[in-house]
Amino acid sequence: MSGLDTQQWFTEVFEPSGSAFGLAITAKLDEVQSPFQHIEIFDTTHFGKLMVIDGCTMVSTRENFLYHEMMSHPALFTHPNPKNVVIIGGGDCGTLREVLKHPGVATVHQIDIDEQVTRMAEKYFPELCVSNHDPRATILFDDGIKFMREAAPESIDVVIVDSTDPVGPGEGLFNRAFYQSCLNALRPGGILVQQSESPLIHLQLLTDMRQAMLDAGFAALQTLNFPQMIYPSGWWTCTLARKGEAFTGFREADAAAANLNTDYYNVDIHKAAMALPNFVQKAFAEQ
Ligand code: SAM
Repeated sequence: MSGLDTQQWFTEVFEPSGSAFGLAITAKLDEVQSPFQHIEIFDTTHFGKLMVIDGCTMVSTRENFLYHEMMSHPALFTHPNPKNVVIIGGGDCGTLREVLKHPGVATVHQIDIDEQVTRMAEKYFPELCVSNHDPRATILFDDGIKFMREAAPESIDVVIVDSTDPVGPGEGLFNRAFYQSCLNALRPGGILVQQSESPLIHLQLLTDMRQAMLDAGFAALQTLNFPQMIYPSGWWTCTLARKGEAFTGFREADAAAANLNTDYYNVDIHKAAMALPNFVQKAFAEQ
């Protein structure tokens, strides 16, 4: 126990669930107050670098692959032929790197409101930024809500909302009006995927979000779950919403043959991620 007395910790306290998560740190490497949020970078003893935004853990070197792979590959292997992809948020560029692993993708626009997140990622998480200069990538710094409102109708195949929690600049990314903008911008059969928080401690938020997607006019929803140690409860979800069509499985043979050099995602993981526990199924059935 003596290590606990002398070790320095970064601790994120989740007041609503009476819990906290901590990582042992060796130093604070950087911090900046951007016009939108407070960004800090820590060095940890076991998880590499850690990015924290407004006191919430965002990305660590060691485990970010879980989230970034699950935010991109299930949606891209569910869509029959994704060519044009938009990422809203995602300023650490990890999701962008995963999307660009798909050779069939022709363009990816990433719109994060905060340039400082990307500048910090370039400096402290360069491995996430290796594809930033891919000619298919366009990195913009603007409000994702405005970008989707102004997007040309039926011009996008997949929209990935890699956002912060629904507070601060991320708040407007979780409501019906935003989902309607996404629906308009998607081609028929297009897919919206959004990080949808913890099934254990944000179940109401998750069901409200799914309802807002249905109210906006999406035809079908699919919530996938996966481990995510540094986010509240260590258990996370993303939710896929389809325009005009039901979900009828994913391109299993393509996913098996793709050889994308992933550390978490594979065909069996994709299938397993769709299995939902009884309490979650019940909450969705009661919607
Ligand atoms: N994976 C993280 C999580 O779930 O905690 C989130 C990743 S982080 C890269 C999310 C990004 O969303 C931040 O860089 C933030 O600047 C961006 N963001 C928040 N609100 C936004 C908005 N309205 N438009 C565009 N980007 C936004």
